[in-house]
Amino acid sequence: MSTPLLTSKIALVTGASRGIGRAIAVTLAKSGATVVCTSTKAGGCDETLAACADAAGKAIAAVCDVSDEAQVEVLAKSILDAHGKLDILVNNAGITRDNLFLRMGAEDFDAVVDTNLRGPFLVCKAFARAMAKARGGRIVNIGSVVGITGNAGQVNYAASKAGLAGMTKSLAKELAGRNVTCNLIAPGFIATDMTAQIPEDLKAGMLKEIPLGRFGAPEDIGAAVLFLCSEAASYITGQTLVVDGGMTM
Ligand code: NDP
Repeated sequence: MSTPLLTSKIALVTGASRGIGRAIAVTLAKSGATVVCTSTKAGGCDETLAACADAAGKAIAAVCDVSDEAQVEVLAKSILDAHGKLDILVNNAGITRDNLFLRMGAEDFDAVVDTNLRGPFLVCKAFARAMAKARGGRIVNIGSVVGITGNAGQVNYAASKAGLAGMTKSLAKELAGRNVTCNLIAPGFIATDMTAQIPEDLKAGMLKEIPLGRFGAPEDIGAAVLFLCSEAASYITGQTLVVDGGMTM
């Protein structure tokens, strides 16, 4: 049997209780990494841990609201104390609070930016020093094609994801000298709880815009994350990898 790709690597996936985060966690665990999976709720990652175990992978659950600096610091301390390092950081946790701009309250803007942009800032900050000191690491941020194209009803979400793209490139420049790469994955339409709320007629219209003729699966994003964390991607940093079935080309 060949050695799994990520043996002895420690990974953190934020927002791994379901959807894309769960698929990323299972993919990394299947590839040999020990994966710390977070949710804002105790027991939130139980099903993810079971899925990792089914795939013969190692996973650990942790509770953390990524927009809460104190909670992020506690998480970082517990991972670095227990494992002495973090090799892979996947900033996946994200929310939507959609509304047309004229009806969008400032609290909807703040909530989305707090989780989707300030969250990755805090988590990167908590681990960047250790990664730089170790002279190696992979940071993968989960953005969205909406951060590139914009989307009616998602001014807050698009702004948060575009901001994350800018943060990714800036961090990539700062950390490259320490052999830490930082890339962004921009998914298109992926079938998860987040997209389940979209009305069927709208979904049918969106499907027509996808050249590959299907909505993405969370596993499609897991595979892209695995690539960016593998040796094969060691010379890639500061990039956006669009995974959208050709929707925005
Ligand atoms: P889900 O709504 O299915 O899952 C979101 C995850 O984020 C959950 O695990 C949730 O954990 C976690 N989360 C939410 N708020 C916080 C917080 N403050 N702190 C920590 N964790 C939090 O979303 P998806 O799987 O669809 O999306 C995952 C990522 O992919 C997001 O960043 C999203 O923006 C992005 N994306 C999704 C697309 C799609 O089509 N689905 C398209 C483009 C990008 P819990 O509730 O257990 O606390």
